[in-house]
Amino acid sequence: MTVGVCYFPEHWSRDRWEEDIEQMAEAGIEYVRMAEFSWSRIEPEPGEIDLSWLDEAVSLIGDHGMEAVLCTPTATPPKWLVDQRPSILQEEPDGTVRHYGSRRHYCFNSPVYREETRRIVSTMADHFADNPHVAGWQTDNEYGCHETIRCWCDDCATAFREWLRETYGDVDSLNEAWGTSFWSQTVRSFEEVDPPRHTAAEHHPSRLLDYYRFSAESAVDYNALHADLLREANDEWFVAHNFMGDFDSCDVYGFADDLDLITWDSYPTGFAQDRRQGAATADELRAGDPDQVGLNHDLYRGAKQQPFWVMEQQPGDINWPPYAPQPGEGAMRLWAHHAVAHGADTVVYFRWRRCREGQEQYHAGLRKQDGSPDRGYHDADRAATELAELDLDPVDADVAVLHDYDNHWATSIQPHAPDWEYWTHMRQYYRALRARSVQADVVHPDWDLSGYDAVVAPALHLVDDDLASKLRAEVADGTELLLTVRSGTKDPFNKLPDAPAPGPLADIVGATVDQHESLPEQLDRTVTYDGETYDYRTFAEWLDADGATVAGSHVGGVGDGNAAITDHDVGDGHVAYCGVWPEADLADAVVSDLLDRAGVAHSERFPTGVRAAERDGYTWVTNFTSDPVSVTPPEDARWVVGDDTVDAFGASVYEGPAADLSVDEG
Ligand SMILES: [Zn+2]
Repeated sequence: MTVGVCYFPEHWSRDRWEEDIEQMAEAGIEYVRMAEFSWSRIEPEPGEIDLSWLDEAVSLIGDHGMEAVLCTPTATPPKWLVDQRPSILQEEPDGTVRHYGSRRHYCFNSPVYREETRRIVSTMADHFADNPHVAGWQTDNEYGCHETIRCWCDDCATAFREWLRETYGDVDSLNEAWGTSFWSQTVRSFEEVDPPRHTAAEHHPSRLLDYYRFSAESAVDYNALHADLLREANDEWFVAHNFMGDFDSCDVYGFADDLDLITWDSYPTGFAQDRRQGAATADELRAGDPDQVGLNHDLYRGAKQQPFWVMEQQPGDINWPPYAPQPGEGAMRLWAHHAVAHGADTVVYFRWRRCREGQEQYHAGLRKQDGSPDRGYHDADRAATELAELDLDPVDADVAVLHDYDNHWATSIQPHAPDWEYWTHMRQYYRALRARSVQADVVHPDWDLSGYDAVVAPALHLVDDDLASKLRAEVADGTELLLTVRSGTKDPFNKLPDAPAPGPLADIVGATVDQHESLPEQLDRTVTYDGETYDYRTFAEWLDADGATVAGSHVGGVGDGNAAITDHDVGDGHVAYCGVWPEADLADAVVSDLLDRAGVAHSERFPTGVRAAERDGYTWVTNFTSDPVSVTPPEDARWVVGDDTVDAFGASVYEGPAADLSVDEG
C-alpha cells in the first residue's frame, strides 16, 4: 500500500524543486502526479513545445526513488488555442458560451478539439515513452467537473443526430421508442432532433435520457483517444482517470475497458456539505460521512472489480464547499486507512504545497505555501509508514449493490418528489450494510452476479426482459435479492410498459404495484414489518401480493392496510421487495434479514460514524467521530495498527474477521 502526492512544479521556482522532492521522499511518498493543467507551459506558443521543465522534475523524482504519474493537459486548453479555434468551447442549453478563464471549457464532440488533443497527447506520450521514471498516466482531469459532461453546441447537435441514427437506424423506430405522439413531438428525420435546449416546459423524458447517455458516451469516446495514443507510445504504462464523488453525469462503467486503473478524488468534509441531503453533523464537518465516502470507494473499486487509487485525497481545509472547517486531528490519516480498507492500493494527497496564486489559494496542501509542514503532512507521513507494511489482496465482498446511471438519470428526470435523490436512496441500504460491517461491491446490473450471496438493487427502475431473466436465474440458483421502490417501473426508453410495476420482475417478486405515491412529512409515513412499526420517507407503493408473503403493511393514510413489503421464495433463493423508502431502522431490519437468509456474516449494528471493514483477513476499525471508541475484537485478534481504543478521528487495524467485532457501550 503506497502514498503519493500531487505536485505542480510550474507553480514554483526551479531552485525549490529539489527540496520539495526530497521532503516527499522523506515522507514515504512513492508517486508524484503532475502536469494536468500545464498546457500553456508545455506549449507557450502554437507549435513551440517545451517539455524540458517536466523532464527535470521527472528526473528529480526518479533520483529520489519515486515514480511520476503524468497527466494529459487537456482540461485547460490555452488562450491562444481558444482564440484560434473558438468552436471548441462548450455551450449552455440557452446558447451561452462557456468562455475561457477557468477550466474544462472544451467540448468532447468538437472535431477540432479532438485533433488538438491528438497532437498534444501524442507529443507528450512520444517524448516520455522511454523515460523509466514515468509509471503511468492520468487522462485529462475530472471529466464533467463543473457540470461539463453535457454541452449543447452545434458540434454536439451533429454528433447527437449521428448517435441516434446508429442507435435507432430509422426515424420511425426513434418515434416509436420515445413515444413522440405526446405534445406533437414526432420528428420526420434525425436532422429534426436538436439537443434539449432551453424550452418553456420540461423536455420529453425519453429524449432527455438519450441525451444524457449520448453525452456520457461522448466523454468515453474522447477518453479512448488519450488511452490509445498513450498505449501506442508505451504499453507498459498504466492509463487512469480521476473520477469524482457522488457524481451523476459521468458513467464510469463506460470507461472500464479503456482504463487500466480507476481512480477518484475524495474530499470528505466537502461532500458532506456540498452533495448530500441533510445538514452535516459536527463530526461530519470535521471528518466527513464514512458511508458517503465508502460508497464512492466501492463504486470505483466495483467499476473494474480491482483495487483502485484515490488520486486526490483531501489534505486539510479546502476551498470549494460552503464552509471550510479544519479536519479533525488525524483525519487525513483516517481517510487513507479508510480508503485502503475499501480496496485502495494507493492514496495520493492533493496537493504538496498550498499554492500562492489562482483559484485554489484557499485549498491546503501537505505543506504550507512557505514550504513548512502543514497539518496533513504528519498524517500522510504516518499513514505512509503504517500502510507500507501491508501487502494486501483485493476486497472480497459477498454482497453486491446494483447501481446504474441510467436509473439515476431516469429517476432524476422525473423525480416525482422534491427530495427524491438516487444516491441518497441507494445509500440508505448501503449504510445498513456498512453499519453491520459488511463489504459490498457496487456494480452495474449487467455484470456477472454469480459470485454474490446477496444482491441489493435500489430503485432498479429501467428493466427489460433480459435483465429480468438474468435476475430470475440468479435467484433460482440461490441468490438472495432485495428490490426497492420504483423497480421495474419503466422500459429502457424511459416509458411505462403495459404491465404494472415491477413489470418483467413481477413473477419473481410475487406481487405488483397497485398504487404509488410520494409524500411530504405532513402525511402518514409508517409501516409495520415483522411485528414492529417503522418510519419511512418520500416514496411509497401499495402492493398486491400474488404468491409473495406480506411481511409489512402501511399504517394510517389512505393506503392503510395495504401491503408494503413482501417476501417470495423463488427456486433456491428468495426475493424481498421493500415498497417504501425506509428510514434507517427499517433499512437495518430489512437488510439484516437479507444477510441472515443469505448466510453472510455480519456484526452487530454499529453507531453512526464507527465502521469496520475487512480486507484480506485484516479488519480496519475507523472512527469518524470526535470521541474515542472502545471496541472488543475477536479473542485471537492481533492488532497491527493501534489497539482497542480507537482515537477520535482515528483508525486501528487487527488481523481477524470484522463480523466478530463489537463496540463497547460508552
Ligand atoms: Zn458541444
